[in-house]
Amino acid sequence: MANIIKVLKGTKDILPQEIDLWHKLEKNALEIFSRYGYKEIRTPILEATELFARGVGDTTDIVNKEMYTFEKSERSLTLRPENTAGVVRSFIENGMSRLSTPVKLWYKGPMFRYERPQAGRQRQFHQVGVEMFGIKEPTADAEAILLAVNYLKSLGLNDLEVEINSLGCPKCREEYKRRIKEVLKPEFDNLCEDCQNRYEKNPLRLLDCKVETCKAIFEKPEIQKVIKSDFLCEECAEHYKDLKSYLTRLNVKYVENKLLVRGLDYYNRTVFEIKSNNLGSQNAVCGGGRYDSLVKQLGGEDTPAVGWAMGMERLYSLLQAPEPQKLDGYIVSNSPADAFELAEELRSQGLNIEFCLANKKFTKQLEKASKVANYALILGDDEIKDGKVSVKDLSNSNQVTINRCDVVKNIRK
Ligand code: ATP
Ligand code: MG
Repeated sequence: MANIIKVLKGTKDILPQEIDLWHKLEKNALEIFSRYGYKEIRTPILEATELFARGVGDTTDIVNKEMYTFEKSERSLTLRPENTAGVVRSFIENGMSRLSTPVKLWYKGPMFRYERPQAGRQRQFHQVGVEMFGIKEPTADAEAILLAVNYLKSLGLNDLEVEINSLGCPKCREEYKRRIKEVLKPEFDNLCEDCQNRYEKNPLRLLDCKVETCKAIFEKPEIQKVIKSDFLCEECAEHYKDLKSYLTRLNVKYVENKLLVRGLDYYNRTVFEIKSNNLGSQNAVCGGGRYDSLVKQLGGEDTPAVGWAMGMERLYSLLQAPEPQKLDGYIVSNSPADAFELAEELRSQGLNIEFCLANKKFTKQLEKASKVANYALILGDDEIKDGKVSVKDLSNSNQVTINRCDVVKNIRK
């Protein structure tokens, strides 16, 4: 065993005993998102590095520290760390701005970030997410949040906390940034190294810092006063107010969090997160917001957009695995050829059937049937001679001998 090759740090196998719950996450996504008019899109995992540098922004942790980037044929390539940039690239490249609005797209799949692995944080993880293009009104923000909440509800997750904030537009945010910088200036030397680096490039990101000493600084009354101050221009304030009134009308409980700024550069106006109290320190299951400038920034037409992404591993860890599905029937017989023939006949009619492929005793086969199937389908010498099957219901041991052609009906009853 000394020489076995192991899975890479921060990556995981999804094992057969875990897959039913993954299928549920995916099935519910398809079902619920379809109800809201979304279509799935599948973009490549590998993209040009420039897409993320320009799309996600080079002041973000994702682009600065976390990307898996390598050279191939003198091109710099990156394993996608998130999928909004890829979806936007595809939206532009495939002329989707000519489609009637809104264009609603959803995706699922692996993302890659070189982070320190810990509970709730992997290097290859999965996201499910949505992007809606073409609507600037707050109805779109409200519908996107409602969709996230309803997807979570469909999984039985009813008690998660929705946090919202508005980052305003580039115009009104500029003044807010200036005020934040000003009030934090005397504290500059006490900020952590990351915050010192962000101070010039992305001062709002400071508010998101998880370092205790920084958090303590932001608690100071004079700094809180600036953080909590109203800076939104009239249009942004109206947009935010309308979003809140839609959420209230639709019974979506939310809390406003002025410190919620999100890690990415591309957001404007609405940002939101959905958190769980049962996840320890990596407690966010969903993050999203409005990104009205990204399509243009990546070379497309000016197109407002809003979207979110959820971490599927974090959803997984909040849920109970469903009972494993049993086979419909397990054929018990001393004649492999007859068992084979019956298995194929029943499989072709949609039943999940197995029989013993190895040469095992009748009693061993029955034992196996009771473990893996709902019914034992017994093909003894008499049954074979008479064209019959003895069907044993393994939940109560009732057994009936019936014509072969009636087996499907009997099992499905
Ligand atoms: P965090 O603050 O946890 O680093 P983030 O802002 O980097 O989150 P997003 O880019 O908004 O996360 O991604 C959306 C969701 O994807 C997160 O809310 C989380 O559930 C999940 N996620 C992000 N990074 C990871 C990771 N390394 N491992 C597992 N899930 C992750
Ligand atoms: Mg992160």
